[in-house]
Amino acid sequence: MENTENGKKLRVAIIGGGLVGSLSACYFGKRGHEVHLYEYRKDIRKDELARGRSINLALSTRGRRALAGVGLEDKLVSHHGLPMYARMLHMTDGSTRAVPYDPVNNQCIYSVGRRHLNQSLLDEAEDSYNVQTYFEHKLINIDFEDGKLYFRRPACIRNCYPSGPDYWALSTSYPGPEQTYWPDKAELIEAQADLIVGADGAFSTVRRLMSRRPLFNYSQQYIEHGYLELSIPPTEDNQFAMESEYLHIWPRGSFMLIALPNQDKSWTVTLFMSHQQFKSITKSDQLLEFFKTNFPDALKLIGEDRLVKDFFQYDSSSLLSVKCSPYNVGSRAVIIGDAAHAMVPFYGQGMNAGFEDCYLLDDLLHNHGLSLEDALEAFSKTRPINAHAICDLAMYNYVEMRDLVARSTFLWRKKLDTL
Ligand code: FAD
Repeated sequence: MENTENGKKLRVAIIGGGLVGSLSACYFGKRGHEVHLYEYRKDIRKDELARGRSINLALSTRGRRALAGVGLEDKLVSHHGLPMYARMLHMTDGSTRAVPYDPVNNQCIYSVGRRHLNQSLLDEAEDSYNVQTYFEHKLINIDFEDGKLYFRRPACIRNCYPSGPDYWALSTSYPGPEQTYWPDKAELIEAQADLIVGADGAFSTVRRLMSRRPLFNYSQQYIEHGYLELSIPPTEDNQFAMESEYLHIWPRGSFMLIALPNQDKSWTVTLFMSHQQFKSITKSDQLLEFFKTNFPDALKLIGEDRLVKDFFQYDSSSLLSVKCSPYNVGSRAVIIGDAAHAMVPFYGQGMNAGFEDCYLLDDLLHNHGLSLEDALEAFSKTRPINAHAICDLAMYNYVEMRDLVARSTFLWRKKLDTL
């Protein structure tokens, strides 16, 4: 067996069964370790109550390489991913302009459904790598010295979860005060692990517990913009309502709309604007006027009734960037994915960077003859530099996407006009 620590089989506890936790389970399982994956929510594969429009994400080379490492690239990308070769910019006058991602080699990124991806990774972890999964297990404490973990199980899960889409579709949303969802009657469960992998998202409990230790650095930043998801349905003859091989963007300076294609020929449309601006729209006619002025072509595709229903159904969600270091506690614990480096979504790299963590960690643990502690130390020394850089690029792209893309196209057009 190609294990770390001179072939020692480790008992690994992965906290969080989101995208990164479930991929990490595949990596550890593939190496023959005993893997236990604990997830706060219900099993998304079985839960009929799992609400929300499952949002889609842009998968890039960084993420694809990590999927390929456990043999999943083809299954998930070729069979499910929708290629996007360029950004399609929509102006207020209805004109459009394509800006290719890679005009030289024609490379693309892929739109993938979060729910499908997460379900497939969980299936793969259980079926191919014998990973034990435990749902409705909320980590509440860790004893890092002796590797003990403490979980709470809800007594009445159905009444305990919030009802909005965000909690189900995006666990990056703040889950709210603990007592709201986890009543006193909740059961306490204890577990033991050699290695604890915190993949429990932007509001990570593992990270919070690590932060109580000396020399842990941490910073977080909310941006003034939030987001709300809308959708464009397929046409009557079940086709895409817009050209599908593009990531569509309606950049409008201080706010923007984007749309990514879904397998069922619908589009997930995300409106990004300041929380203040979201709050200022309180009536249907105000909302319709706002769309008629700023996104007239999108409004036709979304439909007035659908827009009003979706806009007022749920509150806008917040966006957060997190930086911290170190990522490990000796040989006992390590954090990956959003738990280590949550970022604003404008660079489309949060999941991709989290997937890359799984790949890099696996490499350090198994291919360099390092002890477990040295491998985790090496991960913790090298990874934050790159992760912080991606967080910064994402923050920069926050301005670029809604503003500069349009401005540079405007300048480019001007230049063309003068030629
Ligand atoms: P999460 O997906 O947050 O999963 C963490 C899991 O841990 C959850 O299932 C949660 O229930 C569980 N958990 C939390 N606390 C506990 C606990 N105490 N005990 C047990 N379990 C727990 N990234 C891209 O690469 N491309 C994109 O196009 C893209 N678009 C985005 C668009 C938006 C609007 C947003 C908000 C994000 C986007 N991202 C994108 C970022 C991406 O969603 C995240 O980076 C990714 O989900 C991180 O995965 P994760 O597994 O680390 O965390």
